[in-house]
Amino acid sequence: MLEARAAVKSLHAYRPPLAGRQGLRLDFNESTVGCSPRVLARLRSIDAEALARYPEREPVEAEIANCLGLDAAQVLLTNGVDEAIHLLCATYLESGDEAIIVVPTFAMYAIFAQAEGARVVPVLSGENFSFPLEELLSRIGPRTRVIAVANPNNPTGAAVDGEVLLQVARAAPQAAVLVDEAYFEFHGRTVLNSAGRPENLFVARTFSKAYGLAGLRIGILAGSAGPISMVRRVASPYNVNAVALAVLPEALRDQEFVEHYVAEVRRGRMELERELAALGLHYRPSRANFVLVRIGDAHAEFIKELRVRGILVRDRSNDPGCEGCVRLTVGSSEHTRTLIHALREVVEKLGLRREVRA
Ligand code: PMP
Repeated sequence: MLEARAAVKSLHAYRPPLAGRQGLRLDFNESTVGCSPRVLARLRSIDAEALARYPEREPVEAEIANCLGLDAAQVLLTNGVDEAIHLLCATYLESGDEAIIVVPTFAMYAIFAQAEGARVVPVLSGENFSFPLEELLSRIGPRTRVIAVANPNNPTGAAVDGEVLLQVARAAPQAAVLVDEAYFEFHGRTVLNSAGRPENLFVARTFSKAYGLAGLRIGILAGSAGPISMVRRVASPYNVNAVALAVLPEALRDQEFVEHYVAEVRRGRMELERELAALGLHYRPSRANFVLVRIGDAHAEFIKELRVRGILVRDRSNDPGCEGCVRLTVGSSEHTRTLIHALREVVEKLGLRREVRA
């Protein structure tokens, strides 16, 4: 009888709530304005010949590496950061190894680690979702082969100083340490070009968020040439499709578009946080394009009321330490105004307003 591996059978199917997403999409941290018009124009110019060929990743990889100040050998283009995580786990984890993650965090680290038969070691964030450095260091052992940290983290928006992450990587030279910088543009800080970056440190970036290209599935895994060459062995030579490769250089060239959007998001994040404080709602100050808000028992109703007003947000109340929490994506200025307007109505209607002490 055909049987899946035990590690696979023990996985829970992960189904993000993608159905029926009509309205203002503030639920998946996507861009709310889409990609640069220059990218769309390039997309429309793709001809049948370009699609008939197998896609060639290397020239685009070289261009990306150049933008990042790295050698081509230090960069692997992937089918989104999701695939980068998958490849990293497939490269470094044997059955029975350990993968340390800081929770709450992005779901795919645990899924891909478990799929390899590894044991996931969750380390709970500290007070107000601070980075649990001491606890994490104390959990590193000889079987620790992967450590994954999103910086800024999802769903909390919390960021940790790059030095701390370098310290983690130095403390676990036998482990591939992934610093997932999916929200890098909104934070503006990276460990990618840190002096003395250890060999076992990998950095992931995505075009799904600030660049508005989640549907094209483009990510970057960067690191030292030796370890990246190992991960490259596991990847399909055609993992990134021809359409994505064709538009990527144009997306990179139109930095003005990305900078404009990122500036709007940063302003919007400030406005949203100010509004949440004025309404007396508890939130975690964020370094990404979303804010985690603790609504409490009424979180399901809160989400429903926003949906009635045409706004989709994400229930994160089942994440560790996130009881009653909802994640709100920050989009363009116009979309933030729409969100704030609806928030005031819903908070009023549900009687959620807490008195703010002066
Ligand atoms: N990492 C983090 C921390 C994320 O939040 C997400 C998307 N939600 C991803 C990776 C996935 O990125 P991609 O679309 O490039 O696979």
